[in-house]
Order: sequence, then C-alpha cells, then structure tokens
Amino acid sequence: AKENGKSQMEMYTSDVDSQTTKRFLLENRMRKALDNKELILNYQTIVDMKTNEVTGVEALIRWNSPEQGLISPLDFIPIAEETGLIIPIGTWVLKEACLQNKKWIDKGFKPVPISVNISPKQLEQEGFVQTVTTILEETDLSPSFLCLEITESMAIKNVKNSINILRELGKSGVQIAIDDFGTGYSSLAMLKHLPITNIKIDKSFVRDMDDDMDNAAIVRAIISMANSLELTVTAEGVEKAAQRDILKEENCTYAQGFYFSRPIVAEKTEHYLLRS
Ligand code: C2E
Ligand code: CA
Ligand code: CA
Ligand code: CA
Repeated sequence: AKENGKSQMEMYTSDVDSQTTKRFLLENRMRKALDNKELILNYQTIVDMKTNEVTGVEALIRWNSPEQGLISPLDFIPIAEETGLIIPIGTWVLKEACLQNKKWIDKGFKPVPISVNISPKQLEQEGFVQTVTTILEETDLSPSFLCLEITESMAIKNVKNSINILRELGKSGVQIAIDDFGTGYSSLAMLKHLPITNIKIDKSFVRDMDDDMDNAAIVRAIISMANSLELTVTAEGVEKAAQRDILKEENCTYAQGFYFSRPIVAEKTEHYLLRS
C-alpha cells in the first residue's frame, strides 16, 4: 500500500485526525462568524416565584453557520475558549445584550437585569472591568440592569484574583450570579467572600427533584443556604409544574426553564416582558 502513499492517507482519515480536521474547520469558520453576523443571541426569561412576573432575561448565544446549520454553544464555546476567540465573541455578547436591554427599556418595558454568561478566560483577561464599564457607558445601560453569570468552578480556580475583579464589578453596581451551583466545590465560607447577589442551582439537580429524594434534598439545602446568606436563588431547568410547585414551597426566589419559556429571539421575548 506504500507505493501510492495510501498508508499515509489512511492515517489522515483515522478517527483522531478527522476529529482534528473538523475542529480546524470549525475554528476557521468561527473566526469569520463574528464578522459575517452568524452569531445571534436568544433570550430566556427568569420568573419571580411569588408574583409569576418576569424579573430577568438570560442571553444565550447561537451560531447559525451557513455550512453546518445551527450550532449549540456547548459545541463551540469550548473551542472558542481554547483558541482565545472567546475574548472578541464574549465582548460582542456583552455589548449586544446591553444594547438589547437598553432598547427594551426605551420601548417602555419594565426594566429587568439582563444576564450574560462570562467565560473564565474573559474574567482573567486584563482590562475586563474596563471592558464592562465601557460597554455600559456606550450603551447607556444602568449597571444594575446587567448581571454577570460566572460558574462556580471559575470563581474557585483563581480565588484571589477573581474576588478582586468581582469586587470591582460589584462596586460599580453590576450584579453577579454564580452559575451551575452545586457542580463545583464552593463552601459556604467561600460564598461569603464573593460579592455575589444570586445563586443559580444547576439544572441537573432540578431535573429529577420531583422523583429523586437526593436531588430534592440538595435543592432544598441550597435554597435554605442562599436564604440565610440573604442571596436570591434561581432554579434552572424547570420543565414541569410539579417542579415549580416544590420550588415555590421551598421559597426559591426565581425560576427559569422550558416550563416558562425556551430561549427565543429578541422580538418574541417582548411578548413576555411587562410594560412599565
Ligand atoms: P447555562 O449558562 O447553564 O445556560 C442554561 C442552558 O440550559 C441553556 O443551554 C438553556 O437553553 C438550557 N435550558 C434552559 N431551560 C432548560 C430546561 O428547562 N431544560 C433543559 N434541559 N435545558 C434548559 P444552551 O443555550 O445550549 O447553553 C449551554 C451553555 O453554553 C450555557 O449553560 C453556558 O454555559 C454556555 N453559553 C451560552 N451562551 C453563552 C455565552 O454567550 N457566553 C459563554 N461564555 N457561554 C455561553
Ligand atoms: Ca448561565
Ligand atoms: Ca447554568
Ligand atoms: Ca453552564
């Protein structure tokens, strides 16, 4: 097989290599996606458990690739993080979300914070606080109507540095939420030192809470911990009325999930927003 180089070809088309090629293609396409306006934001409502009113909206990125169709953030955010593309993409998300929220407020909808997911790479990037401040100034959005969601593992990794950055942001009036709570290793003591305003319970605990006693116990414990720290708490991944009922009974502050609304485009989100 050697004479026509077939063995080399075979190596190239081995599983590992075709994975690498796919990734390389994806990376190159991602570089152009931002310029070509292939990235869009969807929005998912966050609901107050007491009043049933929308009290926030989370921005979730989507990539509409002409070659590959709709690509989930779970498939491209990790590559964006590895290649550093998450910095320009993340800055675009922040600006787009702030612009959209400002538009809604100007249209007369009741102002609510817009939540934006922040990658660890962004938080570690020098000048991140300045980036956020500049975007708020440029879009003329009040800092209290922006909430940054950071994952629990990220806050833990580089504790000292993260705390300082989060403190600076907190001082400017921006809200900070711990995302995917329960999947990392934060302790109560740790949370006390972070200038956070909200805890989001990871959807893996919420999913089975109506028939898995262990998960129900974890959810209950997180809610009571949040309440005693005087933090608001959001349950994510609420899909059923039964889950909503339990969460309400346990005094969970907010809920988010397909039961209330899927992530949808900006215009459709307006049907859920209240008039001020
Ligand atoms: P996340 O921040 O935990 O976002 C919640 C995810 O749960 C979203 O997935 C949302 O569509 C999904 N979800 C909401 N309600 C339900 C429900 O009731 N049931 C189920 N099964 N799922 C529900 P999505 O949009 O695919 O995003 C996945 C992850 O990608 C996000 O998880 C976040 O970590 C990341 N991500 C999304 N947008 C951005 C972004 O702009 N920047 C960064 N750095 N990460 C992002
Ligand atoms: Ca989130
Ligand atoms: Ca989450
Ligand atoms: Ca997540």
